[in-house]
Amino acid sequence: MEVFTSSHRIANCMDSIAKLSNDPRVTVRRSGDADPEGRCVVYWMQRAQRGVDNPALDVAIEAANALQKPVVTFFAPVPFYPHANLRHYRFLNEGIADIAGALAKRNIEFVLRSYPNHSLLKFCNDVKPALVVGDENPMREPESWRKKAAMKLRVPLWTVDADVIVPSKLLEKAQYAAHTIRRRLQAVLNNYLIASRNAAAHVSWKKPLHLASLDPEVAITRGWEIDRSVPPVPNWKGGSGEALRLLRDFVQHKLNGYGTQRNKPEVDHTSRLSPYLHFGHISPITVALAVQNANAPKADKEAFLNQAITWRELAVNLVRFHPEYDNIECGEPWAHRTLAKHAKDHRPVLYTERQLENAQTHDQLWNAAQMQMVNTGWMHNYMRMYWAKKILEWSRTPAEAHQIAVKLNDKYELDGRDPNGYAGIAWAIVGKFDRPWFERPIFGQIRYMSGESTGRKFDSKRYIQQNLSEQLF
Ligand SMILES: Cc1cc2nc3c(=O)[nH]c(=O)nc-3n(C[C@H](O)[C@H](O)[C@H](O)COP(=O)(O)OP(=O)(O)OC[C@H]3O[C@@H](n4cnc5c(N)ncnc54)[C@H](O)[C@@H]3O)c2cc1C
Repeated sequence: MEVFTSSHRIANCMDSIAKLSNDPRVTVRRSGDADPEGRCVVYWMQRAQRGVDNPALDVAIEAANALQKPVVTFFAPVPFYPHANLRHYRFLNEGIADIAGALAKRNIEFVLRSYPNHSLLKFCNDVKPALVVGDENPMREPESWRKKAAMKLRVPLWTVDADVIVPSKLLEKAQYAAHTIRRRLQAVLNNYLIASRNAAAHVSWKKPLHLASLDPEVAITRGWEIDRSVPPVPNWKGGSGEALRLLRDFVQHKLNGYGTQRNKPEVDHTSRLSPYLHFGHISPITVALAVQNANAPKADKEAFLNQAITWRELAVNLVRFHPEYDNIECGEPWAHRTLAKHAKDHRPVLYTERQLENAQTHDQLWNAAQMQMVNTGWMHNYMRMYWAKKILEWSRTPAEAHQIAVKLNDKYELDGRDPNGYAGIAWAIVGKFDRPWFERPIFGQIRYMSGESTGRKFDSKRYIQQNLSEQLF
């Protein structure tokens, strides 16, 4: 009877584990059975930097509870993340205390390390997990880290698509336009737009005394050789707590009217959640549910969800399925043809990368946008479109324009180095997800934005006053 009960329990546990690994959000990167001798389940936190509403953490907890083992979250930032500088690291750092606090409430131990003591493999050698669960990030470099970990770990590795609403692999291939992905996302949205239960781990972990872990308040960048030329921005504070505060404020005070006000850069009427979504301080599911359930006009809710779901997940789709997502090659064939046809057009105004970076153009509206980005770490969406299109107009070639736009965007925007940035720049410069427009010099059939008509659509004088300052920083 004893034997039957224990084998029955093991069979049940294996069933639960198999069910979890078949969840469309989960990708099994190293297969096999969880090690029965393992002492815990490790959640390898990278992209989803939060202790609540985190599907990757939820999978780790469910697996650990089924295996009757504790969960340990391992987070170890490194100084060599491509194009990250002090501004980005400070924001990331500010989020760590919130992660620690939320994990403690769920009975989960947090091990924080930082370069050069960042190795997941070494950590796993110390704590002997039964299973490692990570999160997903479609970008080239972090994807390569996950592949390496899968090769080197001795236990199964699963990753969970925690920062999208609909698991990105379900789309199967690159999507052509917003209207195509919208249909596919909407068809399955209700299966995935579900609040996390934020369950707790059943088994506590006793951290071995010798196991190193940093204080969550520590400045992780101390001693690192990183780019310190871009200062942190005091008007933004990283972390899940601040993200939730902004979300509440948006739903209460700005969602009503979002549809008509969102394209007015001089008015603060968007959520400003993009840096928090980028660092995983808030889940897109939390954001979408808060808006869906809000007491606000349907048109405003739909306008917001179109950006936060359709356009955001279209950008993730681009990065996941297009290896050239951050250069001009990701453009549409019609766009390449039309830009090539106009390659030799006379370009009456040309600026160098340095002039653009220093906001030294003849166009005050453009300079104000550049200064908003450099000085505050964020630029309004409407100005981002104008900003990128003018870089195309003022550069020697479309390839050079694309490169400069990516470089400046990644350097100064807190939400830079993100699929949304690559998709937005590709949309503006190389027709991605857009259609051919009327033919004109330099742009060919790429959609054009003129300074005059752009400036007439909102109070551009006010925007210039708000952002144009004597100096950068
Ligand atoms: C040239 C260019 C560069 C861009 N670079 C970035 C970038 O580096 N990082 C970034 O997150 N976004 C980028 N965007 C998209 C967009 O401008 C920002 O997401 C938005 O301005 C962020 O402000 P918000 O959070 O207040 O947006 P809200 O209007 O409140 O929208 C809510 C969320 O929806 C998503 N979203 C909104 N607009 C878009 C869009 N056009 N495409 C994809 N997702 C969207 C964002 O996650 C945003 O936080 C870029 C757009 C363009 C045209």
